[in-house]
Amino acid sequence: MKIKSIKAQAELDSRGEWTISVNLKLQNGLEAVASVPQGKSRGSNEAVYVKPQTAIKNISKIIEPGLKGIHVGNQNHLDWILNKLDGTENKSRLGANATLGVSVAAAKAAALSRGLPLWKYIAHLLNYKRSRDEFPRLFINVINGGLHTENNLDFQEYLIIPKSKNIAEAIKIGLEFYKKLGEYLAKHFGRGQTGLGDEGGFAPNLKNNIEPFQIMAHVAKTNHLQNKIQFGLDAAASNIKKPPSKLWALYKIMIQKYNLFYLEDPFPENEFNYFTFFTHKFEKKVWVAGDDLTTTNLKLMRKAHDRKSINSIIIKPNQIGTLTQTLEAIEQAKKWGWKIVVSHRSGETEDDFIADLAYGSYAYGLKLGAPARGERIAKYNRLLEIDREN
Ligand code: PEP
Ligand code: MG
Repeated sequence: MKIKSIKAQAELDSRGEWTISVNLKLQNGLEAVASVPQGKSRGSNEAVYVKPQTAIKNISKIIEPGLKGIHVGNQNHLDWILNKLDGTENKSRLGANATLGVSVAAAKAAALSRGLPLWKYIAHLLNYKRSRDEFPRLFINVINGGLHTENNLDFQEYLIIPKSKNIAEAIKIGLEFYKKLGEYLAKHFGRGQTGLGDEGGFAPNLKNNIEPFQIMAHVAKTNHLQNKIQFGLDAAASNIKKPPSKLWALYKIMIQKYNLFYLEDPFPENEFNYFTFFTHKFEKKVWVAGDDLTTTNLKLMRKAHDRKSINSIIIKPNQIGTLTQTLEAIEQAKKWGWKIVVSHRSGETEDDFIADLAYGSYAYGLKLGAPARGERIAKYNRLLEIDREN
C-alpha cells in the first residue's frame, strides 16, 4: 500500500471551467482517481486554490517526491506530510485543490487495497465500529438564485429535505417533487422559466424572495407530498446587499408560514453576532448552519461555538484541503451536537466522493443539488450503490 506515483491533469468542471484530477498509483498495482470541485460563492476564509496548471506542477514537483513510498493506510500521517510540505495556514503554497485531490485519491487507494467500499473505509478512519443503520438525509436544491443563476432571486438555494425510511425512497420523493415543480413552473410561468441554475435547480424570475416557498408549498400540497418533505434555504447572505434586519424579517415569514426546517448562512460571514441572536431566538425551530461563516475550519468553528452562533454546519472538504482536517471538523461538530451536512460545490465533477463521505462519517445530511445534470446525478447513483453495498 505504498505510493508509487502521483500524476495530475487538467479537466473540466460542470461550469466548463478548468479544475484538476489526480491519479495515484500504489506499488501493489492499484490506482485511484480523484477530481476536485470548485465553489463560486466562496467564504473568504476558505483554503486557497491555485491555478490548475500551478496545482499540477506542485503535485509533480513537490507532492509526488514528498509522498513517494508513503503508506496510504495512514491517512493522518499522509495529510500531516501534505500540510508540512505546504507550510502555510491556508494551503496557499501548494493550493487546496492540489492537496485535496491527493488526499482523497490516497483514501480511495487505501480503501481499494483493503477491499472496502470507500464509505466503510471512512467510517474506519473515524473509528466507527457499529454498522450504519441510518442514511444521510438529502438536501435537494430545487430552485436556484444568487450567484448560481442570472435570475432575480437573491437567495441561492431553495431546498427540499425528504422524509423517508431509506435512501431510495428519499430519492423517489425528490424526483417526484422536482418533476412536478418543473411542470408547474412551465404551466404558470412559461417554459422560459424552467432553465436550470448551476446546481440543477430551476432558475425562474419570480416576484419576490418568498414566492419560491409559496410555489413549493403549493406543489407539495397538490401532489400529496406535504408530509413527505421539509423546506430549507441556503441564503448565502455574504453575497446579498440587503441589511441583516431585512433578511431577518424574511426568515421570520419562512419559519412561521412555511415551517422552515434548515437555514444556511442567513447573514454575511462576518456577522457572528447576528447569527447568535437569530440562533438564540429560533434554535428550537430551525437548524441554523454555518458555511461561509465556518468554512470547515476548526478555528472559525470554535468562534461560532463560543458565541453560540449556529447549531448546524456545512462540511466541504475543499474548504480546508485534506480529508483528515475534514474528519476532524466533523468529529468536533458532533461533540458540540451540531447537525452536520456534507456538501457539494456549485462547480462539480463526476467524482462521487462526497456521497461516501456523508455516509461514512454518519453525517445528518448530504447537500447534493437537484436530480439533474450528470455531475449531480453521479452522487445520487453512488448513494443507491452504497445502499446496495450496505
Ligand atoms: C454553497 O454556498 O453552499 C455552495 C454549494 O455554493 P458554492 O459551491 O458556489 O460555494
Ligand atoms: Mg452555502
